Amino acid sequence: MTDDHNIFVTEEIVEGADDGPLADATVAVKDNISTEGVRTTCGSAMLDDYVPPYDATVVESLKAAGATIVGKANMDEFGMGSTTETSAFGPVENPAAPGRVPGGSSGGSAAAVAAGEADLALGSDTGGSVRNPAAFCGVVGIKPTYGLVSRYGLVAYANSLEQIGPLGPTVEATAELLDVISGPDDRDATSREEGADTDYASAADGDVAGTTIGVPTELVEGADAGVRERFEETLEDLRDGGAIVEEVSLPSVEHAVEAYYVIAMSEASSNLARFDGVRYGNSGGFEGNWNEAFSDSREAFGEEVKRRILLGTYALSAGYHDKYYKQAQDARAWVKQDFDEAFESVDVLASPTMPTPPFEQGESLEDPLQMYLADANTVPVNLADLPAISVPAGETDAGPVGVQFVGPAFGEEAIIRVGSAVEN
Ligand code: GLN
Repeated sequence: MTDDHNIFVTEEIVEGADDGPLADATVAVKDNISTEGVRTTCGSAMLDDYVPPYDATVVESLKAAGATIVGKANMDEFGMGSTTETSAFGPVENPAAPGRVPGGSSGGSAAAVAAGEADLALGSDTGGSVRNPAAFCGVVGIKPTYGLVSRYGLVAYANSLEQIGPLGPTVEATAELLDVISGPDDRDATSREEGADTDYASAADGDVAGTTIGVPTELVEGADAGVRERFEETLEDLRDGGAIVEEVSLPSVEHAVEAYYVIAMSEASSNLARFDGVRYGNSGGFEGNWNEAFSDSREAFGEEVKRRILLGTYALSAGYHDKYYKQAQDARAWVKQDFDEAFESVDVLASPTMPTPPFEQGESLEDPLQMYLADANTVPVNLADLPAISVPAGETDAGPVGVQFVGPAFGEEAIIRVGSAVEN
C-alpha cells in the first residue's frame, strides 16, 4: 500500500471476526481512538510511542462486526485544528484537491476514504472534525447525537462536545457503520439507550416528499459564492424531490464560535493535564524538581495545543471564570434553545458544511483566528448536542463542497434520509 498523502500515522492490519455486517470492509481509525497493541499517538509527539493496553468500545464493535482495520489515521494534534496541519507527523494532502488541505481534524480519516485506502473510516467531531474533512474531501461524514456512540477509549479533547463519527463513500455505507458503533455502553455513563438496535442504513432511501427543510439564513450569508451556488442547486434538487424549503433564523449562532472555543479550550486544559510524563506522555526526566520535570515533559506539545491549554486555563481561572467560561455556557444554552424552537416547525436544517472550499496547504497556519472562524457552521451543532451529516454537493475550482443537514436529538434517520436524496 502506498500512502502518498501522509494519510496514516501507523499502517497496521488488524483482522476482525470472520463474519458480520462489515466482513468485507476495510476501516481506517483516527489516531485518537485506542487500539489494543497498536500505537495511538493523537497526532502528538507527546504520545509517539504510546501503545494502549485496551480497545475503545467502537474498536471492539468494529472487530465484532468483522471489519479489517488497516491503520491509524493522521489528525490534527489532539483534534485541535481544521486542516490536519498541526499533526506532529506532518500534514495530510487532500486526495480530491491536490495542494490543498483535507480539512480536519479527522483529515487522515476522510482522505483514506477519498483515496480508496480504506472503504470506511472513524473520526471524532468536537466542533466539526468529521463533517469538515468529509466536505473538503468529497465524502460523507456523520456527527452523531451526543450519547449515541460510546466515547470509551477516545482520548478526550473536549468531552462535553465530542462524539466519534463514521465517514464513508455513500450515505448508506456511512449509516451502516453508524449502526455498528452506536449503542449504550456501561463504560461511558453519557451513552444512551437510543443507539441500541438501530437500522440507520435502511433510512437511506432518498424519500424526501413532504419533508420540511429549514435554512438558517445566518449560516448561508457568510459563505463563498461558489459554495452558495452548489448549496442552492442542492436545495433545488430537494424541492424537485418533494421537499418543502423555508427560511428560519438562529440568532444565537452569531456567538457560537466564541462560546465553542472558550468551552473547548477550558475542557482541553483540564483533560490534557494528565500528559505530564508520569501518568501519560513522554517523560522529560526527573532531576530533583517535579515542576521542572512536568514542564520539560510538556514541551512535547505543539504550538496550537499549548495555546489552547494557556487560554483554557485562563478562562477557568478564579478571577475570569464568570467573564468567560460562565458566559460561554449561557451562550451554549441559548444556542440549544434556538435549535429547539427551529425544530418545532421544520424536520431538518440545511446549510453549507464549510463556508469555503478547501484552503491551500499552509494558508491558515499563520492566522489561527481565521481558522477558528471556518468552523462557524459546524460548532453550533456540537454546542446543542445534535446530529448532523455532511454530504458531497459537487465542486468548485478549488475542490469539493459539502452540504450539512442537522436533525433534532436522536433524529439520525431524518438526516440520513435527506442526505441520501442529495446523492440521487
Ligand atoms: N476545528 C475545531 C477545533 O479545532 C474542531 C475540532 C474537532 O472537531 N476536533 O477545535
